[in-house]
Amino acid sequence: MAKVGIIRCQQTEDLCGGTADFQFAQKGKGAFEPLGACEVVGFVSCGGCPGKRAVGRAKMLKEHGAEVIVMASCMTLGTPMGFPCPHKDLILDAVRRKLGDEVRVLEYTHPAPKK
Ligand code: SF4
Repeated sequence: MAKVGIIRCQQTEDLCGGTADFQFAQKGKGAFEPLGACEVVGFVSCGGCPGKRAVGRAKMLKEHGAEVIVMASCMTLGTPMGFPCPHKDLILDAVRRKLGDEVRVLEYTHPAPKK
């Protein structure tokens, strides 16, 4: 079972408990489908705008066993408000540079709900 660490948008914490992220990971659905059912070893926020703390937090998740880092859909797809992070590309690039090729980085957790 793949071990994943999830990084979410801090601005969305008041609106969402991350329930869908855990469900999709446990069932191996959505972005987790290529990995199958996953164990979530950590679930943290980006640390607040502009998201620079996500880099150190991704490294910390790796040190706690995450083989894959996953950006939650609130950050990259803007769920549940339709408001993606304006810094998402910078965050993804910085996290990928920091972790190198050893750790895969997925860009969302689950599809945005249909309206
Ligand atoms: S940097 Fe992006 S992901 Fe982090 S709190 Fe701000 S909007 Fe959300």
